[in-house]
Amino acid sequence: MNVMSNVDMYRSSIARFLEAHGWERIRLRAVLFDMDGVLFNSMPYHADAWHKVMERHGLHLSREEAYLHEGRTGSSTINIVYQRQFGRDADPALVEKIYAEKSAEFSTHPEPERMLGAWELLQKLRADGIVPVLVTGSGQHSLFDRLAHCFPGMFDKERMVTAFDVKYGKPHPEPYLMGLEKAGVAPNEAIVVENAPIGVQAGKAAGIFTVAVNTGPLDGQVLLDAGADLLFPSMQALCDGWEELRGTFAQS
Ligand code: CA
Repeated sequence: MNVMSNVDMYRSSIARFLEAHGWERIRLRAVLFDMDGVLFNSMPYHADAWHKVMERHGLHLSREEAYLHEGRTGSSTINIVYQRQFGRDADPALVEKIYAEKSAEFSTHPEPERMLGAWELLQKLRADGIVPVLVTGSGQHSLFDRLAHCFPGMFDKERMVTAFDVKYGKPHPEPYLMGLEKAGVAPNEAIVVENAPIGVQAGKAAGIFTVAVNTGPLDGQVLLDAGADLLFPSMQALCDGWEELRGTFAQS
């Protein structure tokens, strides 16, 4: 049996991407990082907080389903469930109340830890002069403080896209297009790192090479079906494979 090496796999995936988008090569200058489930191991806490608070309001969202909606704005998540049960959007005041409660519930959990491999990968990027950009649908203030604390000096305030910047949010391409703009790069000068299907869709819709890291309970196939160009089983695996991947981009 002919087993493809990692580099062969990267090469064919990059070639497919270039052909589909009409680029000649990927010239890597920036990496656009999602936050929850990529930089922080925070998703179990988010899923738990969503489940508990929605239930408090008679809305049914299991922890498992919360992972499928990961990356959506809070209001979009609330309204998907509200629509399902009541056939209409929730009153904006209720949306605001539920999201505030969800943020408060999230904050009762321990501080989320850095995802294994994330800090090391960021240091590799910095050493190569590649700019890290944060692109998150989150509006969780406690996490932005934590980001500054856990990843000191890595994410410039001018190079962050959060729930406060966007109108549409993922899976719309807007957040990642805004990330490109903030980094001052073209779509073939960046890659996206995402852990959620909706985030992968957003990265792909923005026309950017999208790397999925499967850090949660979903089947990896869900991320490939969402359009991921490459799939890694963890952030640590992406960090460990970084030199090979970066080398393959350079040769593209
Ligand atoms: Ca995420």
